[in-house]
Amino acid sequence: MQTQYFIGTRGGEESGITFKDAVLSPSASFGGLYTLQNFPHFDEDDIKDFTKLDYEELTRILFNKIGLKVERDLLHESLSLYQNFDDKKSPTPLVSVTPHLHLQKLYCGPTRAFKDMALQPFGALFSGFLQEDHHHKNYLILVATSGDTGPATLKSFANKPNIKVVCIYPHGGVSDVQRLQMTTTNADNIEVLGIDGDFDDAQNFLKEMLKDSKFNAILHSKNTSLSAANSVNFGRIAFQIIYHVYASLQIYKINHEKPHIIIPSGNFGNALGAFYAKKMGFPIEKIWIASNANNILTEFINTGIYDITQKTLKKTYSPAMDILKSSNIERLLFALFDAQRTRELMESLESSHQYKLNKEELIWVQNYFGATSCDDDYCLNIIKAYAKKGFIIDPHTACGFKSFESIQAQYPNAKCILCATAEWTKFAPTLAKALGFGDLSDKEALEKIAQTYKIQIPTQISSLFDRPEIHNRIIKKEELYNSILEWL
Ligand SMILES: *Cc1c(COP(=O)(O)O)cnc(C)c1O
Repeated sequence: MQTQYFIGTRGGEESGITFKDAVLSPSASFGGLYTLQNFPHFDEDDIKDFTKLDYEELTRILFNKIGLKVERDLLHESLSLYQNFDDKKSPTPLVSVTPHLHLQKLYCGPTRAFKDMALQPFGALFSGFLQEDHHHKNYLILVATSGDTGPATLKSFANKPNIKVVCIYPHGGVSDVQRLQMTTTNADNIEVLGIDGDFDDAQNFLKEMLKDSKFNAILHSKNTSLSAANSVNFGRIAFQIIYHVYASLQIYKINHEKPHIIIPSGNFGNALGAFYAKKMGFPIEKIWIASNANNILTEFINTGIYDITQKTLKKTYSPAMDILKSSNIERLLFALFDAQRTRELMESLESSHQYKLNKEELIWVQNYFGATSCDDDYCLNIIKAYAKKGFIIDPHTACGFKSFESIQAQYPNAKCILCATAEWTKFAPTLAKALGFGDLSDKEALEKIAQTYKIQIPTQISSLFDRPEIHNRIIKKEELYNSILEWL
């Protein structure tokens, strides 16, 4: 395909936006997100050819066919970061639980959660795009994190030239492991700030700064532009298409069965990658959105109503999915409908905190998606039941079993791929609770579980407790603005 030009989900006049532009400055006009205009479509023969490719070849050919222009060497360099993952042959190995259920381990990278799948190559890609333009501009990347995005972003950008990263997290709102993954990162181009607030405070600050003209003018005077590395950046989505294609082809090539893909979801970035894969013709039966007690996506997919007027955010054991405004739904609306309708629906969400699809639109959504939600008790019971069978799973992945049950009830012979989005080691105290060991600290829980189930704690996690916490500033949220400018 020719170069793909990106457009804003809510329309606008911009034209000629390339993949590189969308990666470096991710906000589009009218408050929309940059998104794909055109999709290639693959038939049976193409798909047969794709099954023969290794992970890197598959990525290169797909990027090329979608029109995401990246120099061959730069793409190779970005993907070479997967060589540090557990299994050199595939960054995302499939493990069979039953003949009908495969876990796809998306957590085999340095920070032990699925964010590495996109953020590891993304840092190299972003930095490579920067070096291609020889005007020596500097970038400040702001990240707000509830625990998994921060560590993965810092890992990805540590010591990259012309880039500085400020990572903001709620003090007391992340686990010991997650905090240590951030505070022990040894690099001068990063700053980590704990704030006396919750994740929403951190995220709201980030959103305000992206729009704040004074802040941007000060940065500009320092030859610096502001960017973001959250999942609204299409660069992350691009890498998240590939592993869904790779896994579905592995199942399909055995005897031409199309798997269902189950995805523990929050901001809908992971699921959007699967949606694009299915839309291009890859063999995926349905995509299942697995939520926790914050069941806004389940309601949306089952009724067509997105309504947060009566909802407050609940804290659960699967905190990476504690979200009410799921950003990437906007790209789904655009791909299924059009810019005008997307703008109408998103403006309704902003002004009256709700919108409703018509009957026909809902059918479109349901052609692609099913959805389930579950509560914390369900999650703990699943962890316990599967530990007995020898599978130690994290609380986010556990929510996916609810979808698996629903699929089995409707389609008894279906094959399913459940995306395992984090390793148990990131949420060890919750596992300790589920397994009957009581309230333990991260370190105690890790050791107790590893010993009881005779499993290894990967060194990326165990070594955290011996390293000094270098970036240990805790500040008031009102101090963020000045602290960041001073640090720059
Ligand atoms: C980020 C995250 C999710 C949610 O992914 P989205 O792309 O935001 O839907 C699920 N599980 C874990 C462990 C995560 O870190």
